Amino acid sequence: MIKRLDNVKLNIGESENKLLAIARKKLGRYPKFFKILKKSLDARDKNNIFWVYSFAFSDEPAPATPPLGKLENPPLVAVIGSGPAGLFCAVRLIERGFAPVVIERGESVDDRKKSVDGFFVDRVLNLNSNVQFGEGGAGTFSDGKLNTQTHDGFNRDVLEMFHRFGAPEEIEYLNKPHIGSDKLSGVLKNIRSFVCANGGQYMFNTKFIGFTQKGGCLKSLILENTQTGAQSELLCNCAVAALGHSARDTFEMLYKGGVEMQAREFAVGVRIEHLARKIGFAQYGNYCDKLPTADYKLVSRAHERTVFTFCMCPGGVVIPAASEEGGVVTNGMSLYARDGKNSNSALMVQMKAGDFGADDIFAGMRFQREIERRAYAVGGRNYSAPVQLFKDFAADRISDAYGEVLPTYAAGVKFAPLSEALPPIAVSALKAAIPDMGRRLKGFDCPDAVLTGVETRFSSPVRILRGEDLQSVSLSGLYPCGEGSGYSGGITSSAADGLKIAEKIYERYK
Ligand SMILES: Cc1cc2nc3c(=O)[nH]c(=O)nc-3n(C[C@H](O)[C@H](O)[C@H](O)COP(=O)(O)OP(=O)(O)OC[C@H]3O[C@@H](n4cnc5c(N)ncnc54)[C@H](O)[C@@H]3O)c2cc1C
Repeated sequence: MIKRLDNVKLNIGESENKLLAIARKKLGRYPKFFKILKKSLDARDKNNIFWVYSFAFSDEPAPATPPLGKLENPPLVAVIGSGPAGLFCAVRLIERGFAPVVIERGESVDDRKKSVDGFFVDRVLNLNSNVQFGEGGAGTFSDGKLNTQTHDGFNRDVLEMFHRFGAPEEIEYLNKPHIGSDKLSGVLKNIRSFVCANGGQYMFNTKFIGFTQKGGCLKSLILENTQTGAQSELLCNCAVAALGHSARDTFEMLYKGGVEMQAREFAVGVRIEHLARKIGFAQYGNYCDKLPTADYKLVSRAHERTVFTFCMCPGGVVIPAASEEGGVVTNGMSLYARDGKNSNSALMVQMKAGDFGADDIFAGMRFQREIERRAYAVGGRNYSAPVQLFKDFAADRISDAYGEVLPTYAAGVKFAPLSEALPPIAVSALKAAIPDMGRRLKGFDCPDAVLTGVETRFSSPVRILRGEDLQSVSLSGLYPCGEGSGYSGGITSSAADGLKIAEKIYERYK
């Protein structure tokens, strides 16, 4: 029988072998099966910080997981988008006996990396292969945080699969798991090898540009090779649309084709950077050098808006994340080691329909684009980002020198007033919220914190409506999936939605 122990405390620096020793003591010999189930840091008292574990063990070997049921003669399923939602959907489809074709407008991860590095240096943006588009989707150049606010039953499967495809085992039990951008590309290649070795296929540089239907049922996808412009038709009546939140052109195409959608509220803001060691000291006091790079999560309320930190990247960098010409977009990334000098997070202000005029479904999307274009203009029209020190932002003046914190944004920065890019309500809310957050996290409102604009791709501006069978309410055979379709936010919940869709497709055809 498997035994489980919870709430076992280890001091900082103490070896995890102690857990094995506890199991041995309970069983009278070393366990044949031992697994850490949960590991979290208790930092409520900065003078007494410790790790807390749950673990399972048994004197029997690990129980075998029953294999998944499989289809004999499955239909062709197209998975559009190779972000976490699309890829995890494809993997589960393979496990259920399908041979999906993954259609991706961007490049495979190594080529994509070259395009992204080229953009950082030469500022030539590849519109189909960038930080938002390409193998791995928006998650590839990320911090790879895998924690989620959702309690989807598939979350555990997602972590197990990430581990199976090469992520460190600890992601299965850490309270705040993360992979890091450097390890993610290996995971993506392992997933690709698995899909292709089991009858699946990838079509890179292939953009989904249209579809045909008959009587409200999907009949085929129209595809375009993004390098040659050649168009082709793929006959298929089952497709997963895992497009991500930045596929603005594809949302418009689907909407024009009669696919029902709703506008969603979203948030806009900036990236804020501090010295990682100062955040560490504020969070962990004297323990900070012995613990992983500290994170934080802050919320404030100002001018009747919620202001919140999001996608915090400890020891990471701010990255250029544009996917449209003439727009500046920021985001955050870190490596597994999280050992950069700065830590950053998105600092977002909730927007309401009244801020951008709800005259049509894409009003919010145009509003996002407008903010990105203003940031491009004030940043100098070459994808440099506008930056301002917090003290200058608060005093409405353009910064002229840095303090201790230097910006990490790779495509160049320019001292400029962020108020010329952001909506006035976002500026007022940020000015009030930053000092309030500084009362909860010492130094968050330090005068030399660097604000880099703008962060606009927080979530999808639309939701593609789906019914109980998870198919589009207006186009049967199309399965809206993941963040772009408005059903998830972040890597893990998007991957979980991909698994959910795959299971629904299996149920339909089994
Ligand atoms: C820099 C950065 C850092 C991030 N850090 C984190 C983090 O640490 N933790 C976290 O949880 N989340 C993070 N996120 C968010 C996370 O990446 C997304 O929530 C997640 O990737 C959404 O998954 P998805 O599969 O739904 O969509 P995406 O990952 O956006 O994937 C969609 C894919 O569809 C493709 N596509 C779009 N349109 C078409 C078309 N017409 N034809 C063919 N292909 C198409 C795109 O090229 C893309 O590859 C980060 C995002 C960015 C940009």
